[in-house]
Amino acid sequence: MVKRIAILGSTGSIGRNALRVIEALGDEYEVAVLTAHSNVKLLAEQVKKFKPKIAVVTNPEKFDEFKTLAGGGKTEILCGEKGLVTAAAAADVDIVIAAIVGAAGLEAILSAAKAGKTLAIANKEPLVIAGELLTKIARENNVKLLPVDSEHSAIFQAIQSGNPKEVNRIILTASGGPFRGATAEQIQNVTIEQALAHPTWNMGKKITIDSATMMNKALEVIEARWLFDVPVEKIEVLVHPESIVHSMVEFVDGSIIAQMSEPDMCLPIQYALTFPKRVKGITKHLRLERIGKLTFEKPDMEVFRALKIGYQVAQTGGTATAVFNAANEAAVKEFLEGKIKFVNIAELIERCLDKHKVKTNATLEDLLSADKWARNEVKECLKRKI
Ligand code: NAD
Ligand code: MG
Repeated sequence: MVKRIAILGSTGSIGRNALRVIEALGDEYEVAVLTAHSNVKLLAEQVKKFKPKIAVVTNPEKFDEFKTLAGGGKTEILCGEKGLVTAAAAADVDIVIAAIVGAAGLEAILSAAKAGKTLAIANKEPLVIAGELLTKIARENNVKLLPVDSEHSAIFQAIQSGNPKEVNRIILTASGGPFRGATAEQIQNVTIEQALAHPTWNMGKKITIDSATMMNKALEVIEARWLFDVPVEKIEVLVHPESIVHSMVEFVDGSIIAQMSEPDMCLPIQYALTFPKRVKGITKHLRLERIGKLTFEKPDMEVFRALKIGYQVAQTGGTATAVFNAANEAAVKEFLEGKIKFVNIAELIERCLDKHKVKTNATLEDLLSADKWARNEVKECLKRKI
């Protein structure tokens, strides 16, 4: 049977790779929904090529421009956050690839889960903000949550060689980013260009900055906690600069199962789509003799403070993870606009968390208001010059 796919965020790095994967997979996969925020030129090209049932422009200011560019065709065009939430639950969709960046993807993911869609999740921030709620809705609606993030795909693949109850430890690998091995002093005055120069992965700007601060790994610890239902104490981070081992699972008998491949997101995207099957794909096969050696080291959580804070908020839970994520999103935006220093990102996150009164048993409204509060608090901190 043909699998009909919705790609939320089809113009991004994950979205574009997902389309390459789907194209290579052939007739068994069909593009049903495409969405974009502001790159309407690319969205229009994608719509002409893949002819989805629905296309969504989430930024209302870009709607008219898109209509002109897309011209005619049978694709239904929706607009705004409302259009996105509707498209994520559309009747003609089997699998939703969540590839929007940040909290902006949260409500659409919840909508897809409530509608019983299989979810292939790259967009990790919603799991960080509302992991408890999302996994609960998924369980209630019998929804499969399939990881696309490379580490989580690796864990998902490794975990299948045992029983989830037999897992002793999850070892999340991290490339270490462009500032691996740097001292606190050395990262004081790094530039935007240096922070965007990731050594092994080619990704969107926000996640690339998150990799440089190691915030990305902090988000991934929380993501793993919810996807695999393991306590945070059992999740360890190891820096592995070659980015060949995408993560590992240690079982109670001491066996460690690793998943390896070239660093290419097309593989985890494809596995989420074809699971439980494996098929020949477009990812170049790994030749270990060309890599030579694989190395591992402990991360420095004093230099990369976001990772340390991440472990703390993961333990706290409630609205703390929403504040952690939102403060980071707001701070990264300021950094990319050249308004703050690289090291201010972790400082701003800490300021917000210090001031926030955590609410446990948080509802969606509590989480959304904590998110809003933190974004505003970042602005206030900057007005007060932190
Ligand atoms: P990107 O910036 O390249 O693309 C983001 C997509 O989201 C675009 O299609 C954009 O139109 C859409 N978008 C942006 N703001 C939006 C808004 N306010 N409302 C609706 N849509 C909006 O990002 P990316 O690198 O592809 O990352 C997407 C997600 O996948 C992130 O959560 C990231 O952490 C995760 N991820 C990415 C990679 C990677 O290799 N790029 C790897 C693992 C996980
Ligand atoms: Mg990752």
